[in-house]
Amino acid sequence: MSALSSPRRGGNEQGGPCSSLDCVLVLNAGSSSLKFAVYRRCRGAAWQLAVRGQIEGIGAAPHLSARDAVGEALVTPELASEVRDRRSALDFLVGWLRTRFEGARLVGVGHRVVHGGAQHDGPVIVNARVLAELHELESLAPLHQPYNVFALELLSQRLPQVPQVACFDTSFHRTLPEVAQLLPLPPELRQHGIRRYGFHGLSCEYIASVLPQAAPELVGKRVIIAHLGSGASLCALRDGRSTETTMSFTALDGLCMGTRPGALDAGVVLYLFQVLRLSSQEVETLLYRNCGLLGISGISNDMRELEGSSEPAARLAVDYFVYRAVKEIGALTAVLGGLDGLVFTAGIGENSASIRARICAACAWLGVRLDASANDAAAARISQPGSTVSVLRIATNEELMIARHTGRLLGLIQSAA
Ligand code: ADP
Repeated sequence: MSALSSPRRGGNEQGGPCSSLDCVLVLNAGSSSLKFAVYRRCRGAAWQLAVRGQIEGIGAAPHLSARDAVGEALVTPELASEVRDRRSALDFLVGWLRTRFEGARLVGVGHRVVHGGAQHDGPVIVNARVLAELHELESLAPLHQPYNVFALELLSQRLPQVPQVACFDTSFHRTLPEVAQLLPLPPELRQHGIRRYGFHGLSCEYIASVLPQAAPELVGKRVIIAHLGSGASLCALRDGRSTETTMSFTALDGLCMGTRPGALDAGVVLYLFQVLRLSSQEVETLLYRNCGLLGISGISNDMRELEGSSEPAARLAVDYFVYRAVKEIGALTAVLGGLDGLVFTAGIGENSASIRARICAACAWLGVRLDASANDAAAARISQPGSTVSVLRIATNEELMIARHTGRLLGLIQSAA
């Protein structure tokens, strides 16, 4: 395996010497950003974060930022002349990490891949056949999939000795009952794979993995995870497994998002084509980039900006965001047959006390009783002791989930070899 190199300070997380340090590089490659994390472990111990960061502004004014395991900002090099595009950004990142982790063993690269289609109900080591399958799914997730697959392909070439593992946002929802996976179309269309997949699975899987510690009373119970970020979806958990989710065939369905509309009458799309004569490219751009919070407000897709604005259109966008979340919590509660736990996560769910408060107030009929001061203080448990529904605020960690999957998959292969 390739040497990525040892952190300059040798030693395991307990401070003792470590003769064999394994690293996993986690990548989340987007159109203009490259998020990354390096996890390391000393012979069989748990994966520990070593560095996390991102290159933003690829193609415009690229900038590398990174933090160490305790969140301290690292001194990073200027990028401008070297990083012109996604290819050079990846090359630069690998080179930078090589010098930073000189001597450590890179056991694998774990990639976040948005769509795994019907084929993949778990992470997979990438080969030429898998790459071809993932390319075919690009039109189902045009904001993410092409860039995820580009990074997979490039690193397969650059680091041919290092296994590349694809971890899918769809896999966690493969436990949906058949009826919930269905889109009500004729069988000759469904056989093309047109069905409900669901997304944000890595985030939901992480939350499900830490929930027993955070709220032991919810083990085996009915829980809704509200992943509210730029993309937003709800996941209904029964016994820790996904049983329903608001996203569907693509990541356009369900809740209102930063630039995506969420659920939309299919007749609107027909109208755009037939009456307003938009091209398919224009419709795609509209639905993925110009709707949702940005479309309603005409101001921004950023919740912070909208919450800070007194413009009526900004307020309407926030009202609609909350309204849709509440409506779908009601629907998922009906599917679950009641509700015992509600978890807020991702950029808005973790950071906006006012959005959490508004959603919880509208769910009072379900027995949700918010503890206002715990909510304002961003505590982990934000419901009152007597609340029928336990309400939690948990920071998601998709990167750790990818590192765990990658390590586990490669560990299996190594022991089988
Ligand atoms: P993604 O990972 O999909 O880019 P995030 O989970 O980072 O998305 O969420 C981004 C969203 O979180 C943005 O709308 C941003 O405005 C919102 N957000 C981040 N911090 C806050 C905050 N303090 N208050 C309200 N919204 C916030």
